[in-house]
Amino acid sequence: MSDQPTLEEFRAEATEFLEGRAERRPPVTEFVWGEGSDQISVFDERDRDAEAADAELARSWRRDRYDHGFGWITGPEKFGGRELPAAYEREYLAVEQEFRTPNMGVFTISLGMVAPTILAHAIPEVQDLYLNDLYRGDQVACQLFSEPGSGSDLASLQTRAERDGDEWVLTGQKVWTSGAHLSEIGEILCRTNPDAPKHRGLTAFIIDMRAPGVDIRPLRQMTGSASFNEVFLDEVRIPDTHRLGEVDGGWGVALTTLMNERASIGAGTGGFAGLFSAPRLRATLEHFDCGDDAVLRDRAARLVSDFTVASWNSQRALDAIKAGGLPGPEMSTGKLALSNNLVAYSEWLADVLGPRIQADTGEWGTFAFSKLLLGVPGIRVAGGTDEIMKNIIAERVLGLPKDPGIDSQTPFKDLAVNPLRS
Ligand SMILES: Cc1cc2nc3c(=O)[nH]c(=O)nc-3n(C[C@H](O)[C@H](O)[C@H](O)COP(=O)(O)OP(=O)(O)OC[C@H]3O[C@@H](n4cnc5c(N)ncnc54)[C@H](O)[C@@H]3O)c2cc1C
Repeated sequence: MSDQPTLEEFRAEATEFLEGRAERRPPVTEFVWGEGSDQISVFDERDRDAEAADAELARSWRRDRYDHGFGWITGPEKFGGRELPAAYEREYLAVEQEFRTPNMGVFTISLGMVAPTILAHAIPEVQDLYLNDLYRGDQVACQLFSEPGSGSDLASLQTRAERDGDEWVLTGQKVWTSGAHLSEIGEILCRTNPDAPKHRGLTAFIIDMRAPGVDIRPLRQMTGSASFNEVFLDEVRIPDTHRLGEVDGGWGVALTTLMNERASIGAGTGGFAGLFSAPRLRATLEHFDCGDDAVLRDRAARLVSDFTVASWNSQRALDAIKAGGLPGPEMSTGKLALSNNLVAYSEWLADVLGPRIQADTGEWGTFAFSKLLLGVPGIRVAGGTDEIMKNIIAERVLGLPKDPGIDSQTPFKDLAVNPLRS
């Protein structure tokens, strides 16, 4: 584009936008113990009112960003994007990191997974209806895939969608739906053809989360938060225009979402880069009188290098996607690396803090990290478990023999009680 700013001009534009609106963080090289508590806010115990208030702040920050040309930097102009290369988005995020801005966790699924799927598979009218609103933060989307009996083996899901003229009628149950209570819409995967093999009888839709027949109930986690939900669907009606892709072609649509999910989780620097910064790790050791402990220092150095390598790998893969490629199995290595790094960090921190991580004495940066310790196992499961990531890497990267499964040609209805994966 002829009017494309240089990266330096763009950085100056982004800095000007941020300077008028947000307080600067202390530079990461000057990390002071007690600063930067916002780095762990994703694991804080928050009730749903506080969470809703945070989401409102995030929505209004997104609105401001969007209205000033920072809402969808790489996206198509017709949806408010600027069609700039991925390097510009990275630049914006790097500048934003220098400021204290609202936690954008509420948009992880909405913009990381559902919006790219709408862009790839919805009809133009539905893209017009939602994409601007999603990127402006006026609407938030959740992902309704998992069911009580279907997680890793997603294709065995049983929620039914039956056609009725120009509409579909949905009945069933979804579970582990993050942020359903904060969402206006959702991407849902349903069984539309029980006579077809299980992967070939699924269809994806955009569902209105406030429609009659949608019942959202909270699930409390061991961190104390309730960011999950069960979602019950009782004859919920969806217009056929809100179908994503072909009838019975939902598996391909789901793969678009899942690959984007691994890409957005596996990118892995977002909320966590601060945790792994060398000055922060050093300040933690020194604050708790462990600065001379050779083993803890060695583990800290390993954390920094492992995280840095993982973030470079993820960035390379994300750039390839933004340049028009499809997310591939390298997303699984990124996701696995993130869970391994977070587990290693939380174990290191528990060893540094000792009993302080268990006793709530009111001292900053001690007991609060118990939320991190309890939240990290969830990352091993979300977006595909560690074992499933290892299966994908074994089969698609290393070329090892496929995990044995049952006959994938058998119709879903004949798979009886326990339809194992194929
Ligand atoms: C933080 C978090 C957020 C989530 N958000 C959402 C959401 O918004 N929307 C949504 O739809 N879902 C969501 N989920 C659900 C998530 O996708 C599933 O939990 C995940 O896919 C695993 O499914 P499952 O829980 O049914 O476990 P299962 O699939 O029953 O797995 C149980 C165990 O068996 C292992 N296993 C299963 N199959 C194999 C195999 N073939 N080879 C080796 N080991 C195997 C697994 O690794 C695991 O250890 C979320 C989960 C978490 C933890």
